[in-house]
Amino acid sequence: MASVKLTNVKKIYGKDTVAVQDFNLDIADKEFIVFVGPSGCGKSTTLRMIAGLEEISEGTVEIDGAVVNDLQPRDRNIAMVFQNYALYPHLTVFENMAFSLRLRKAPQEEVYEKVTKAAQILGITEYLTRKPRALSGGQRQRVAIGRAMVRDSKVFLMDEPLSNLDAKLRNQMRAEIILLRKNIDTTFIYVTHDQTEAMTLGDRIVIMKDGYIQQVGTPTEVFDMPDNLFVAEFIGAPKMNTFCTELVLEGGKYYVKPYGAKIEVTGKKAEMLNKKGVEGGEITLGVRPEHFVLAKKGDRGAIPCKIVVNEMMGSELHLHVTEENGDRLIVRIPTIILSDDERNALTYGETIYVTFDSKVMHFFDTESGKNLLV
Ligand code: ADP
Repeated sequence: MASVKLTNVKKIYGKDTVAVQDFNLDIADKEFIVFVGPSGCGKSTTLRMIAGLEEISEGTVEIDGAVVNDLQPRDRNIAMVFQNYALYPHLTVFENMAFSLRLRKAPQEEVYEKVTKAAQILGITEYLTRKPRALSGGQRQRVAIGRAMVRDSKVFLMDEPLSNLDAKLRNQMRAEIILLRKNIDTTFIYVTHDQTEAMTLGDRIVIMKDGYIQQVGTPTEVFDMPDNLFVAEFIGAPKMNTFCTELVLEGGKYYVKPYGAKIEVTGKKAEMLNKKGVEGGEITLGVRPEHFVLAKKGDRGAIPCKIVVNEMMGSELHLHVTEENGDRLIVRIPTIILSDDERNALTYGETIYVTFDSKVMHFFDTESGKNLLV
């Protein structure tokens, strides 16, 4: 159990490859933090600096209030699970899990108790006498997690632990990590490039790009109020639609004018624009695919689009459409709201009308990408 604090952390590889910079983060005791971002954004480097596997070029890392910059990994009281499991092939599952306890010459009863308890939590008791090669990918991953668990570490670090598993197993292991977290009361720092993993696992998510933190927040915060266009498009799948639009202020009311339509901004979003003193002009408007609704020709705010692809996902349709200027949008429609006739009519080349409410609008500065309401 421990808090972790990073202050002005920077990592430079070689002479001038800056992998991470201006990294400031306070992680509370028992918090589950996820670092997420595209490949190369500096997630693993940051995790490895916390683990002590990578030297910290500038700044400090503290665990429970003590600076650990100069401590060896083994002295930091952390456990780390890697994506390639790193199990010893010649040892049984039991001995793989017991390895660190054996190293510090723990008494036999303690080894037995800790390994069997971890195996029980992870559901791998029946494999304890097997060698890793006789296990599936998911089972090996559990052993790797078990090996970290027996160490009673203060901080649990995980670097893409599920990325070698197939999609179905990944979903299952994700649920197990959520359960595991309830069973072992410790601080987790988890690295992934997968926004779904980040959203489902994290108490808070740290979204990174090019070595910089873009936003830190709860899943709800980053989804509902992304700080910038990068976060808006990174979180949520399919990604948020964004398009250049005019925002106008007429008679004290705000309107957006996407693709020839005119939609009044009402409620909370209007209040926020007002409070921020936004004057209008060219902006980038963001609307998530699931926030479009079907409209009828002539409806107020209806935008005509042509269907280019209709992906039937089971409980919903993903319609890829182009509006009159040729911009491509994705619209997600729950199939349950459609009659069979309506669903059959949504085919390639057909014109449909879509619109959206001001509740679901996101407003960004086109040049800087910053959210105008933050
Ligand atoms: P992520 O985990 O987000 O994919 P990394 O932390 O692995 O990103 O890498 C961040 C940046 O640092 C990348 O540009 C990568 O090429 C660079 N990098 C990582 N490790 C090294 C290294 N050992 N030497 C030089 N550059 C590195």
